[in-house]
Amino acid sequence: MSYNMKSENENILKGIGAAPGIGISKAFIYKKEKEEITNESITDLEDAIVSLDTALEKSKKELRKIFSLAVDKLGEKRAAIFDAQIMILDDPILISTIKNRIKKEMRVPEYIVNDEISKYTDLMNLSHEPYMKERSHDIEDIKNRIIRNLKKKKWKSRITSDVVVVTTTVSPSDTVLFSRVNVKGYVTDFGGLTSHAAIVARSLNIPAVVGLHDASNYIKEGDLLIIDGYKGEVIINPDEKQLNDYQKKIVRLQKQGTELNKLRDLPAVTLDGKEIQLLANLELTDEIELISESGAKGIGLVRTEQLFEEYEAFPDEEEQYQVYKTIAERIYPETVTIRTFDIGGDKVLPVDLKEPNPFLGWRGIRLLLDNTHLFKTQIRAVLRASSHKNIKLMLPMIASMIEIRKSKEIISECKNELKKEGKIFDKHMGIGIMIEIPSAAVLIRDFAEEVDFVSIGTNDLIQYLLAVDRGNEIVSSIYQEFHPAVVRTLHHIITEGKKSGKLVSMCGEMAADPFAVPLLIGLGLESISVSASAIPLIKKIIRNLTLKELQSLAAECLAFKTEKEINTRMHRFSNEKEKHQIKNLY
Ligand code: PEP
Ligand code: MG
Repeated sequence: MSYNMKSENENILKGIGAAPGIGISKAFIYKKEKEEITNESITDLEDAIVSLDTALEKSKKELRKIFSLAVDKLGEKRAAIFDAQIMILDDPILISTIKNRIKKEMRVPEYIVNDEISKYTDLMNLSHEPYMKERSHDIEDIKNRIIRNLKKKKWKSRITSDVVVVTTTVSPSDTVLFSRVNVKGYVTDFGGLTSHAAIVARSLNIPAVVGLHDASNYIKEGDLLIIDGYKGEVIINPDEKQLNDYQKKIVRLQKQGTELNKLRDLPAVTLDGKEIQLLANLELTDEIELISESGAKGIGLVRTEQLFEEYEAFPDEEEQYQVYKTIAERIYPETVTIRTFDIGGDKVLPVDLKEPNPFLGWRGIRLLLDNTHLFKTQIRAVLRASSHKNIKLMLPMIASMIEIRKSKEIISECKNELKKEGKIFDKHMGIGIMIEIPSAAVLIRDFAEEVDFVSIGTNDLIQYLLAVDRGNEIVSSIYQEFHPAVVRTLHHIITEGKKSGKLVSMCGEMAADPFAVPLLIGLGLESISVSASAIPLIKKIIRNLTLKELQSLAAECLAFKTEKEINTRMHRFSNEKEKHQIKNLY
């Protein structure tokens, strides 16, 4: 494929539009894993030594994070591997040898680190003792960790603002990095619509196209790119016509944005008077301003696991308390729902605990119940921040009643401790659960009766119900929110959940899909939480519908047997209401 050809479509790559918006900027190729260790010389010795010290410190922090997680689950003995790795990082002889060589040879630190630590691993590999061979893997791990951290610093300093980042995959920590520089968009080879990175892109309002397979090979550094997050297209070195068309689209979008913002202070109410609670999801603490300006009626989901990325280690109780308190105060008198750490899956990973099936593994509440210290630290911090009575606590990945009951016991323990310590907190803080595992959907009535509220996490619910990895672009066409099984399950959750008299909300990405919202409301949903950037459009859609028409639309969809029928029906419905659609901008 050639990208200098100007004829139509030859310079267009098609992927999945993961975050809406249009960006026009030069490409920045972010090939972190593939970079090799070069034997480059340096001129600034001080800078090299500081980089090394920072990388060592960062590696230690990461290992402590892993160690604290591993110790409860794997036991002291197996977790000791990580402790041993920390000790290597503190070995004065090794560190001074590395530093002396950097000074003497004036070479990049990663080269010397690689060379020096490889001496040990080579020797160990020669041994016939299996134990020695195993230990050599651990040392190899630590070497790679230091090198990765040395390079990260380099990459960070290389990312300039106003670029479209092109890369293979985006990790949670990359998204934090991108949020700090003014990235105009990102384009990835892998990933699906509800992968964590895509969700963060939406919340940061950065256009993103994912699942392009080999974009990072086709696109060259410095190519001019148009990224169209609506259509899921990337245009490489656009011709004049393409550039003009897109510049006009940007102006139209800005106008549309201004129009939508006029709805800011109006309620999300249907034409026949049904008010829908419209809340915002929060990924990064910086987002709170955006949320306050969006007209959201509170925060329906705080993904606290993102804090690990922001803090680069487990934030302690005091640090967490400050974060939660700031959010609660900023959003007051509205309410904020803080979800306890959902670590695992494609989120923050204790990198060395490789699992064959992380989405079916040690994730969310399972990990928290195995790490009560971590769990209690967070619950205490949330409780302490709840003194204004506008915080609710939500538990992720609930699959069984026992998990709810155990969690409630731990919450009670924390309350008793705080009471004894004379700390003020909301004694009646609402406790809710995510409904994102099919077993919880089936048992919704019992589960809802056990808690104060439930929130449907469609991102996971769809993946588990249909057995389709939410982050895998190869199967993205069968990750279907309009699959009849999904629609009927949602109906079951909403109607059975409401029978318990408890609030049923939704904070998965389906709630932000303009084509799905009419169906969800028709199914009886009364509260949704979406990324702040989606709020104005969703509000506009709600304000142009009647509950009555939506109820019969939902009844129609519940009777369909195929995804195609429901999908077509919902698109036809939205097309009939043409003016509410973002697509209409084209
Ligand atoms: C979900 O699963 O829908 C959800 C909201 O949680 P997350 O995307 O953080 O897994
Ligand atoms: Mg989830």
